[in-house]
Amino acid sequence: MTQASSDTRRALIVGAGIAGLAAASALAKAGWQPVVIERAAQRRRGGYFIAMFGCGRTAANRIGLQGIRNRVPDRAHTYLVDRAANRRPGLGFQDVPNGPWMMLRGDVERSAFDALPDQVAIRFSTTPTALTQDGEGVAVTLLNTQTGESAVERFDLVVGADGIRSTVRQLAWGPHENYLNRLGFMICAFELPESLPGLKQQEGAILSEPGRSFWVFPFADHAPTVLFSYHADDVDAERARAKQVGVAQRLRQVYGPEPLGDLMGAAIEHLENTDEFLFDSVEQVTVDHWHDGRVVLLGDAAWCPTLYSGMGATSGLAGADALGLALAKYPDDLETALSKWEETLRPAIADFQKSAYPMRELFTQTSPQEQRKQTFTIALRRFMFRFPLLMKLMMRSKSFQLRNGDLAADFA
Ligand SMILES: Cc1cc2nc3c(=O)[nH]c(=O)nc-3n(C[C@H](O)[C@H](O)[C@H](O)COP(=O)(O)OP(=O)(O)OC[C@H]3O[C@@H](n4cnc5c(N)ncnc54)[C@H](O)[C@@H]3O)c2cc1C
Repeated sequence: MTQASSDTRRALIVGAGIAGLAAASALAKAGWQPVVIERAAQRRRGGYFIAMFGCGRTAANRIGLQGIRNRVPDRAHTYLVDRAANRRPGLGFQDVPNGPWMMLRGDVERSAFDALPDQVAIRFSTTPTALTQDGEGVAVTLLNTQTGESAVERFDLVVGADGIRSTVRQLAWGPHENYLNRLGFMICAFELPESLPGLKQQEGAILSEPGRSFWVFPFADHAPTVLFSYHADDVDAERARAKQVGVAQRLRQVYGPEPLGDLMGAAIEHLENTDEFLFDSVEQVTVDHWHDGRVVLLGDAAWCPTLYSGMGATSGLAGADALGLALAKYPDDLETALSKWEETLRPAIADFQKSAYPMRELFTQTSPQEQRKQTFTIALRRFMFRFPLLMKLMMRSKSFQLRNGDLAADFA
């Protein structure tokens, strides 16, 4: 068993996603020695569309993530389309004045990986299987899933950045069902190798029907990514059906029996030729305290706001940055550092989580009433975005400020 001494404060960071990688750099800057473990055998580089808001960009800059850039295409347009390829003006993230930057998840992961200081290595195929805290530290049993070997190591802090179904949360807080709030939707997201038929590189599309939608996100210098999002009362049964017939075939069923049309047809054909896709249910994580002694949850493990809020990656970076700064500000008082960190982030995260519900209605409508609301909201926003005064008012709103401010200003 390795003992942690007071002058080499070691932090175990569980999960090499965006939050975990960013936390490793932020903690190293704060004088900690991070050890990152990742359950997968290698990095997950691929991706889907990410909108990065100002508070995430501020955090990324401070942590030292280089190369995060806006991939919004020149003259970008998003259309509302139907299966027969009729189109009318829609609304994309690029239409929002002073809106978020558009990028791929892989852009953020790569920047966070490249920013890691030399002393931080990632131990792949490694997962925690037990955690025990005492006043002095945390003893963690680490299992190497390749070799089957287990060893106990001591750390001064454990950061659970291991995503929505976090093992750290399960070990230290309790079973997943206590913390996961199912929204009743499934998503499938992936990158395309080329533009879809009938769409130029700078053109995005939204196909919206009751209970199911399909989105195409365009980029300046990259093929588009797509998102299928649909309602499912019983997500366990839905997962089982997809496992039985394959995800591509399940999407054909869910988006049938009508002919798929050129756009969805081509996208599902691409899906059949790739293993790099995400298929999952949409669940929000709510935990009433994000730290317990020397164990802290970060990113989706602590507060997954869901993709509909568009704030998961942004808030993962902001949370990691704030954590490093709080630890640096209270170097000899871990409890105060973690309490202040949590207190500072809570209002913003609550706002991001709340936004997931109205945003879900914009993404995928389940009733004619929600469809009318989507049409009205798009028309209203397209109107508002033309008037600088209205935009100024919107930019004064609390939500806008939280998304685009500096969430760690209290510690910086
Ligand atoms: C389709 C889609 C679109 C999105 N769009 C946006 C957007 O526009 N804007 C935005 O800000 N966010 C968006 N998000 C959300 C964002 O991608 C996530 O919130 C963010 O990537 C979560 O990062 P994380 O590091 O907290 O978790 P994860 O990315 O889930 O990383 C967790 C890591 O921990 C590892 N792990 C899990 N269990 C263990 C274990 N037991 N031991 C060791 N390692 C483990 C996993 O393998 C993984 O590498 C979107 C998400 C989706 C799915």
